[in-house]
Amino acid sequence: MRKGFVAILAFLFIMPSTISVTGQDSEEMPLNCSLNFNGELANESVHFQTDLGPRIPGSLASSALRDSIKNNLTGWHITESTHHSNGMTLTNLFATWNKGAGSNVILAAHYDTRHKGDQDWNESRRGDPIDGANDGASGVAVLLEIARLIPNLNLTHEVTLFFTDGEDQGDNHSTYVLGAKAWAENLSQEEADSIESFILVDMVGDSYLTLRKTTPGNMELWNRTEDIIRYIDDVCQLNDSSYFDFERFDGIYDDHVPAHELGIPAIDIIDTRFGENASFLGGHWHTHNDTADKVSAESLQKVGYILELGLIDGAWLDVRETEVSKDSDGDGIADNVDSCPQISGDDTSGCPQEPAEKTTISQDGDDITVGVLLVLCIVLVWSNFAWLIFADNRGEG
Ligand SMILES: [Zn+2]
Repeated sequence: MRKGFVAILAFLFIMPSTISVTGQDSEEMPLNCSLNFNGELANESVHFQTDLGPRIPGSLASSALRDSIKNNLTGWHITESTHHSNGMTLTNLFATWNKGAGSNVILAAHYDTRHKGDQDWNESRRGDPIDGANDGASGVAVLLEIARLIPNLNLTHEVTLFFTDGEDQGDNHSTYVLGAKAWAENLSQEEADSIESFILVDMVGDSYLTLRKTTPGNMELWNRTEDIIRYIDDVCQLNDSSYFDFERFDGIYDDHVPAHELGIPAIDIIDTRFGENASFLGGHWHTHNDTADKVSAESLQKVGYILELGLIDGAWLDVRETEVSKDSDGDGIADNVDSCPQISGDDTSGCPQEPAEKTTISQDGDDITVGVLLVLCIVLVWSNFAWLIFADNRGEG
C-alpha cells in the first residue's frame, strides 16, 4: 500500500515538472523553427533573371521576367497594371494568395533594373545598363521562394506579392519609385487602411549581408522584425544575427515610401552597403559589379527566413492596433512611431530607439495556464501527504 502512495506521490511530483517543461517548450518554441525557405533555389532565380539581361521597363527581358513570374505562381490571383510615367511604360505585377480573405499583407520587391551603371568606376560604362543581381533580382528571388512556401503555411489572410516596375530608373526622388507611386496614387484611403502591412525587400542578396533598420518606416514593424531575427538566432539557432545592426538606422527612399505616406505600416529591408566593407550606397551599388557572383544563397536565406517566420507568427498583422496600445499620452498617435526624419542619408541620428518589446513572441496565455496547473498539482500533492499522515495515524499501510 505504501508503495502505492510513493508511486502516486512520485507521479504528482514529476507531473508538475513535466507540465513545466511542456510549458517551457511552448513558451520558448511558440513558433515553427523548421523553416523551409531554400536559399539555393532563390539563388537559382537570381541567375535566371540576370541571364535574361537588364530588366529595363518596357524591354523584352522585362516582359519575359513577368511571364516567368506568372508561370511560377499557378493558383495565385494575378493582376497587372500599366502606367505611363516619365516617358516610360511601367507594368506593376501583383499576385495574391487567399484572394478575398482580407487582412492583406503585401510583400514587395522591384523587378526592374537600373538602365545605367552611373556609379561605376569606369566612366565609359556609366551609361550602360547593369545586371541588377542584387539590386532587382535578389528581392524578386526572395518573393518567388516565399511564394513556393505560402500555400503550405495555412494562412487565413491575403498575401499579395507586389513586383514593382520603375523603381530604379531615376536621378532624384521625383523620378525613382515610379511604379509604387502609381500604385499608391490609385489607392483610395479606404483601400490603404485595409492593408495590414507593406514589407519591402531590396538588395538582400549581398554575400556580405549587412542590414539595419531604415527610415522612414514603421517602428512597430521594426521591433517585430528585430524580435524575429533574434529568435531565429537564439531559439532556432538557424543563423547568427550578426548580419543585423540593432543600434543604427539608415535613411532610404524606396518603394515603401508611397505606402508609408498613406499610413500603411511599411518597412524597407535593404542592404545599403553592397560588398565587403562597403560604405552607405557605395560598393557595388549601381555599378557593373552588381553581378550574380556577388550574391549568395546564404544571404537570401537569412532574409527569406525573416519573411517566412513573420508570416507563420502573424508578425505582419495587426500592426496599427499595437501602435495605438502604445499611446501613453493618449493623443491618439502612437508614441515614437514614425518620428524619424524622412531623409536619405547615412547613420540617421536622432531616431527613436524604442525599448525592445517582445510583442510577437510573448506567450502570456501559456504562462497563466502553466501557473494554474502548477498550483493544482501542489494542492494535490499536499492533500495526498495529509491523507498519508491521516492513514498512518489510523495504522494502515
Ligand atoms: Zn538601385
